[in-house]
Amino acid sequence: MNELPEPSLLRASLKQLEAERSWARAVKNCQAKKAYRLEVHAKAHALQLMNNPRKRLRAEVPIYTYKCPMCGMYHLTKKTPKP
Ligand SMILES: [Zn+2]
Repeated sequence: MNELPEPSLLRASLKQLEAERSWARAVKNCQAKKAYRLEVHAKAHALQLMNNPRKRLRAEVPIYTYKCPMCGMYHLTKKTPKP
């Protein structure tokens, strides 16, 4: 008889693994990105990037800001934030 782990246990450890992965991703993101102490600063910079008079330097996609759970400051992202 095969001794497979309980499906609920397996799901729990998969969930744990996923949580660790997204945590690691967030840490990496945080270190790579410029952090703004105030959201208004991040937003101002995002607007600047989107409205650069030099087309070559202008962002082609909307830029969003989000509060970083790692450093508590704000970063810019091109990903649509989750509600
Ligand atoms: Zn951060």
